[in-house]
Parts: sequence; structure tokens; C-alpha cells
Amino acid sequence: MTDPAPTAPAPAEPAGADATASDPVLAVRGLSAGYDGIAVVHDVDLTVGAGEVVALLGANGAGKTTTLLTISGLVPKLGGTIEVAGEAAHERRRVRVADVWQLARRGVAHVPEDRGLFFDLTAAENLRLGRPARGGTAVPLDQILAWFPALEKVLDRRAGLLSGGEQQMLALARAVIGTPRLLLVDEMSLGLAPIIVEQLLPVLRSIATETGAGIILVEQHVGLVLTVADRAYLLSRGRVAFDGTAAELRGRPELLESGYLGEA
Ligand code: ATP
Repeated sequence: MTDPAPTAPAPAEPAGADATASDPVLAVRGLSAGYDGIAVVHDVDLTVGAGEVVALLGANGAGKTTTLLTISGLVPKLGGTIEVAGEAAHERRRVRVADVWQLARRGVAHVPEDRGLFFDLTAAENLRLGRPARGGTAVPLDQILAWFPALEKVLDRRAGLLSGGEQQMLALARAVIGTPRLLLVDEMSLGLAPIIVEQLLPVLRSIATETGAGIILVEQHVGLVLTVADRAYLLSRGRVAFDGTAAELRGRPELLESGYLGEA
């Protein structure tokens, strides 16, 4: 991104009941994934519709990060299919970190657990690294600052000097400035006070609704994330133990409990 484009992307249709079926931005079928040929994620089916917020939940080691990394192509899949906006993703070879721009061109933005910021660059310079998707335009800086107003006063500050909350806002802002179709956010709340998480989750909800991006949130604040998510997947030992609406999962605390105790 050099200069932000003058106009905001057209708002998408709100996610309707059949958004997932009719307009999936992500369709994962029978995914197995892992390391050195050993699967830690097994036979996962997962879809995300345009404008949908989907929570990916589960105990430590359940396979949430591995699933996100495999969708991005940063970890090669061992089996199954991954389609982003109807296109088969990275079928032929492993995508290296250097290929993250390719990801952005395909319309995928990934905010990793460590946020992936360039600490020696200013916040504004980090934002300029956000790349628009193929055929897309960058979100104007004004819109970015409307979503993340705390960034305005720190644009000229080096990212390494920002607070944890400001760094997370910057990482999210850099991810969404390129109008991704699919946004993957891993443990946004790591190291953040719950009040910051409470502020940021509704912002992500608005971004999904206003831009039509589909968002997957891996989040340890389960109660909070289920208040903004449309649907949820609960992983247990690498397999989907629950797949349904966030409201349904909120009403089944025993399922969450067993999922987090590793018994689901
Ligand atoms: P957490 O909530 O603790 O981050 P998670 O649900 O994201 O957990 P993953 O990080 O995907 O789980 O890990 C799933 C399994 O894969 C675990 O058993 C983990 O030890 C293993 N694993 C993760 N990364 C690697 C790696 N680079 N090499 C080998 N095994 C790994």
C-alpha cells in the first residue's frame, strides 16, 4: 500500500442465514494437517461466509493455530481441500513466510499470535505494508482510524514502543487495510487486559459486517467471543466436537467445559 485509496469499499450484504452456503469465503473439507507428516488436525470441515464472524475454540493443543496456519498455507496440509473465495488454495507447494504478500493478493490476511509487526518501523510504516487483495482497494486511513481511534496519536511512533493493546490494534489495522475477504486472527487477547479485548471484539464484528470480510477468531475469552460471533467450532484433540451457532454453544456450557477439559 502506498497511499490509501480515496473511497471505502462498498459495504457487503449483511450475513444472512444462508450466507455460508451461498457465498462462502472459505470452504475447508476433510482437512488433515500437522508437522513432519504427523497429523494433529483430523478431518476438519469448516466454512466461513461473507460478513460472518466464526469462533474457533478448544483447549490448549486442540489444533486451533495449526488449522489457521494451514488455511494460510504457512503449514502444508496433509489431506483435504481448502478453497478461498472459490479458488483452491496453495495446492502445489508450501507457502513460505516470504509469500505472505501472495496471501494478501488472494484476499487472506493472517494476524498471528505474535502479531508479526516490524518493531523498528513506525505504526504508519507498518500500515503501509498492508496489501490490497487482487482487484481490491486499500481502506482509507480515515476509516482505519474510525475503527481503531487509539492509533491516530501513535502513527509516528515505532511499533516496538507501542503498548500491547496498541500493537494489537496496529496488527489488526494492517491486516484489514487491504480489504481481505478472509481474516484469520489468532489469540488476539494474548497479553491484553480483558477491557481491551472487550473493545476490540465489537470492532472486528463491525469490520465483518461493513466490509463483508469473513473472520475466524481463535480466542481464549470464550464468553466474550461468543457474544460477537455468528457461529463457532469447538476442536477437541484435532477434531470438530461442535459446529453450530454461537448462541447454541452459549446455551451448552457443559459442552464447552468438556471441550476445554479435553473430554469432548
Ligand atoms: P494453544 O491454545 O495452546 O495455542 P492450539 O489449539 O492452537 O493450542 P496447536 O498450536 O495447533 O494447538 O497445536 C496442536 C498440536 O500440534 C499440539 O500437540 C502441539 O504440540 C503440536 N505442534 C504445534 N506446533 C508444532 C510444531 N511446529 N511442530 C510439531 N508439533 C507442533
